[in-house]
Amino acid sequence: MIHGAMQDWPLLVWKLIDHAALNHGRREIVSWTCEGVLHRSNWAEVRRRARQVASALRRFGIQPGDRVGTLAWNTHRHVECWYGISGMGGVAHTINPRLFEDQIVYIANHAEDRLLFLDLTFVGLVEKLAPRFQTIERYVLLTDRAHMPASSSIDFLCYEDWVAEGDPDEPWTELPETAPAGLCYTSGTTGNPKGVEYTHRSNVLHAMAACMTDVFAAGARSVILPIAPMYHANAWSIPYTAAACGAKLVLNGPAFDAPTLRKLIVEEGVDLALAVPTVWLTMRQHLEKTGGDLGRLRRTGVGGSAVPQALIEFYDRLGVRVVQLWGMTELSPLGTVGTPLPEVADLPYEEEMKYRIKQGRPIFGVEMCLKDEEGRMLPRDGKTFGRLMVRGPWVVARYFKGEGGQILDEDGWFDTGDIATIDELGYMQIVDRAKDVIKSGGEWISSIDLENIAVGCPGIAEAAVIGLPHPKWDERPLLILVRKEGAQVTEADVRAYLADKIAKWWMPDAIEFVDEIPHTATGKIRKTALREMFRNYRLAAA
Ligand code: ADP
Repeated sequence: MIHGAMQDWPLLVWKLIDHAALNHGRREIVSWTCEGVLHRSNWAEVRRRARQVASALRRFGIQPGDRVGTLAWNTHRHVECWYGISGMGGVAHTINPRLFEDQIVYIANHAEDRLLFLDLTFVGLVEKLAPRFQTIERYVLLTDRAHMPASSSIDFLCYEDWVAEGDPDEPWTELPETAPAGLCYTSGTTGNPKGVEYTHRSNVLHAMAACMTDVFAAGARSVILPIAPMYHANAWSIPYTAAACGAKLVLNGPAFDAPTLRKLIVEEGVDLALAVPTVWLTMRQHLEKTGGDLGRLRRTGVGGSAVPQALIEFYDRLGVRVVQLWGMTELSPLGTVGTPLPEVADLPYEEEMKYRIKQGRPIFGVEMCLKDEEGRMLPRDGKTFGRLMVRGPWVVARYFKGEGGQILDEDGWFDTGDIATIDELGYMQIVDRAKDVIKSGGEWISSIDLENIAVGCPGIAEAAVIGLPHPKWDERPLLILVRKEGAQVTEADVRAYLADKIAKWWMPDAIEFVDEIPHTATGKIRKTALREMFRNYRLAAA
């Protein structure tokens, strides 16, 4: 083996917070909390307490490689636990509290979590599920003495007291950079959730890439609000990214309502906020009603589901640039980002929009290609679609405990389960999730495209499309709509709106209005639930 002559400095996540504490120590971390107060802290303070967490975990007997669960919102305490756990060699397992109870039990047992940190919100849930948790030895309630429950079936440790006993000078654990740092399960829309075990190296590389100008353009003057939760693919890396560049971090805790989010954005001077499209749809309705603005907010990173054009246009009018992101839990999560190439930025508004509704271009560290069902490479012509394959240093190699077996093909590509096109400029566009695409008469209809166009219709708040069995065409689209509050829009209005925007054969066979569209634990439209809801719905033969 030939070696160069530079230092071997393992990429460990605690180096991120050490850097932030030493060089940006007074930069704030502001957090809305379960106790209903705004808590002000900073990188130096959070590192000090993270070391106390590491010390308390060691005393408890947590060993490097052991999983420690969290059932918590984005708060300063959650960030302390996160760094404290992986800093002492443990694996921070962020559990999504919005999963079904059976799934929560499954993943806590599957991960073999030894200790669980939880927010006050989840006391009732944990009391109920504790008898089914097989490996959790202690529960630490993320609050102070004054807010501990008067009585409970569980002998909770009080976080503030427990941490206070920890040593603030506790050393971090030296580890190889390939050691595990975190664990996050995909929401498992089919079958049991599967765990993705991030390494220190994958998280650090991903955090550095996320800072780049054409990704989040994050720096010491940034004020970032990750509305995306830490249990949804590491809050899209923001607690790492903000530490790497010394940004101010604003955390919304248990509050996801538009008025609270807006207040945080305006009062804390947030200039970059990240969330799934439904959050921004709700915010739009709130702003339309109240006529408010978003203060210093200049950019939103939006991903997790396709971003409708109408949403991009609305925020443009407010001076807030929507940057589309595509990624997944298996990619830590960033894969592509929609910041424009110079030739795209120079296009007239309408022309540029055609690129902005695409999912974006790969960031350095992510390789991407399209393959057909037989594994042959497909061209990058913006028209040919195929299975989107990815590889890179923050892409999953295998699921936790080898679940699902071999998941890479012979060339090391991971199949994302998405169907996409890639154009000559490298812009990737998701056509659909392989399991959601509507197969009509041998052709494919993209449910995502139809949804995005339908949601632009005046009076429509949200749209979902599913394929229903059809006697002649195999499958045909059913369009399910939610009206905006007080809107009177009818089926005929929607058909008239769609008529000149889609190919004739894409016109949905049926349109139904509902009060609410169900969402998954990560804010996506729950298509399985919609299919179940409309199971007995029959489309007439054309
Ligand atoms: P889940 O646990 O809900 O599957 P993920 O975040 O891992 O959560 O989901 C990843 C999937 O979300 C991708 O494979 C893709 O289908 C979808 N997705 C993410 N971002 C976008 C986007 N910008 N446009 C369309 N689909 C997206």
